[in-house]
Amino acid sequence: MKYTSTRDNSIRINASEAILKGLSVDGGLFVPLEIPKIEKPFSELKDLSYKELAYEVMKLYFDDFSEEELKSCISGAYDEKFDTPLIAPTKKVGNKYVLELWHGKTIAFKDMALSILPHLMVTSAKKNNAKNKIVILTATSGDTGGAALAGFSNVENTEIIVFYPKDGVSRIQEKQMRIQDAKNTHVVAIHGNFDDAQTGVKDLFNNEELNKKLLENGYQFSSANSINIGRLVPQIVYYFYSYLNLLKDGEIKEGEKLNFVVPTGNFGNILAAYYAKEMGLPINKLICASNENKVLFDFFETKEYDRNREFILTNSPSMDILISSNLERLIYRLAGNSSEKTNQLMNKLKVDGKYKIDEDMKTDDFYGNFATEEEVANTIRKTFEKENYLLDTHTAVAVNVYDKYLSKTGDETKTVIASTASPYKFTRSVMDAIDSEKYGKIDDFSLVDKIYEISNMTIPAAIDEIKRKEVCHNTVTTPEKMQDVVLCALNIK
Ligand SMILES: *Cc1c(COP(=O)(O)O)cnc(C)c1O
Repeated sequence: MKYTSTRDNSIRINASEAILKGLSVDGGLFVPLEIPKIEKPFSELKDLSYKELAYEVMKLYFDDFSEEELKSCISGAYDEKFDTPLIAPTKKVGNKYVLELWHGKTIAFKDMALSILPHLMVTSAKKNNAKNKIVILTATSGDTGGAALAGFSNVENTEIIVFYPKDGVSRIQEKQMRIQDAKNTHVVAIHGNFDDAQTGVKDLFNNEELNKKLLENGYQFSSANSINIGRLVPQIVYYFYSYLNLLKDGEIKEGEKLNFVVPTGNFGNILAAYYAKEMGLPINKLICASNENKVLFDFFETKEYDRNREFILTNSPSMDILISSNLERLIYRLAGNSSEKTNQLMNKLKVDGKYKIDEDMKTDDFYGNFATEEEVANTIRKTFEKENYLLDTHTAVAVNVYDKYLSKTGDETKTVIASTASPYKFTRSVMDAIDSEKYGKIDDFSLVDKIYEISNMTIPAAIDEIKRKEVCHNTVTTPEKMQDVVLCALNIK
C-alpha cells in the first residue's frame, strides 16, 4: 500500500514514511492510494479481542510493518493503561447504543490513537534509519495535548511540544497537560484560539529555514495531530469493533446497517468511520454533529465551506474548530482522488477563507446538524434523568443531533453514538447542566466527588493524578513567538 498527498498525486511513499513525516511538503495530507477492503468474514472477526481486530484492520494500511512490528505496537498501546479489557465497550442507552472511547489514560477518545502513535513512530524511524530526534509539534483544543503528552512522555528520541489556546480548554484539560513532568515534554499556552494554534503549527512545519536549523541540530518535526495517518487508521478499528460486538451480542444481524453519530471538530474521528464504511462496514448514515461552531453543518447543507465567521468558545472545547483539517481527505475522495481539484479548493480556503464544492461531489453518506449550548445542557440533564447515564458535553452534542435526525427523518436504523470523553473531564459544564444552582459554587476539581455521588461511576485514575500533582509548565506566548519557544525548548541558538 502506497500513500500519496492530497495536493500532489505524483508522490508515492510507504506507510512508515507517511507516519514519520506527518504532513506532506506540499501542505497536503497523506492518503492511501486506495482504501482497502476488509476481506475476512464477520463471523470470523466477531470473536476477536480489540488487539486482534486492530491487527486485522491496521495490517491492511501499514503493510510495510512486519507482523511482529505491528503486533508489538498494538500490544504496547492497548494494555492496562485502559481501565477495561474491552478497551472500547458499546453500551445500550435508551433507544441507542453508546460506544465509549474514553477508557484510556486521559479519559478522552484521543487515547485510542495516541496510545499507539508513539510506537508506530518509533518503529517507523527505525525502519527508515532516521537518525534525527523526532520533535512532535502539536496544536490542541484540549484533549490531543493531554493524550499526546501521555503517549510520548519518556519515549526515547522524541521531544513533544504542545500548544493550546490559553482560555480555550477546560480547567481539568489544562491541568492535565501542565502536570506532565517527563523531561521530553513541553507545554505552551498561547494567546489566541485553537485555529491560531493550529495555523501556527502548520506554519512551523512549512518553515524551510526552521526545518533546516532543526536538521543541523539533529532534529526533525513530526505531527501527532489527526492529520497524521498514524492517528487516522487506529481510529477505524473501533467502528468495526463496535459493530462486531453488537453482532456477537445478537443486537444486530449480519449485514444489518448501523448509523454512527460522531461529535466532530477536526473531522478526524468521523473520517475514520467513513473509511470503515468504504472498507465494507455496513453503515447507513454518518451523522456529523457540531456545536455552535457549525461550519460543517453549513457545508453539508450548502456545499460551501466558509470559515469566515466568529469563533465561538463553547462548553465542548475539543470541537471548537473552524478549519477541520481532515475534511481535506474527504474532499480528495469526493473529487475522484484529484489532487489538482483539492489543491484548488484548499488554496481558496487559504486565500478567501471559503470554497464551494461542485454539484457532482456528493456528500450523501453524511448528515450534518448542530446543537446549541442550551440544547447540550438540556440533553445532559434529560439523559441523566431518563436513562441514569451521564454524558459529557461533546457526547451530548451527538445525542442532541441524533434526536434531531430522528425526528426529521424517522429513520429506524439502529444507531451508535461515539462517546468521546468521560464526564469527569468536563465536571464544570456537566454539573452545571445537571443543577447549576446546586453545583455552581463548587470548584471544578471538587465537582469530581459530586459526579461520583450522583452517578456512582468509578473515578478514573487520571483524575486522581490531576488533583494530586503540581503544575510544572508555565510558558505563555503569542502565535508570533511560537518559533522562538520551539528553539528555546530544543536548546537551539
Ligand atoms: C477531539 C475531540 C472531538 C473531535 O474529534 P475530531 O476527530 O477532531 O473531529 C470530539 N470530542 C472530544 C472529547 C475530543 O477530544
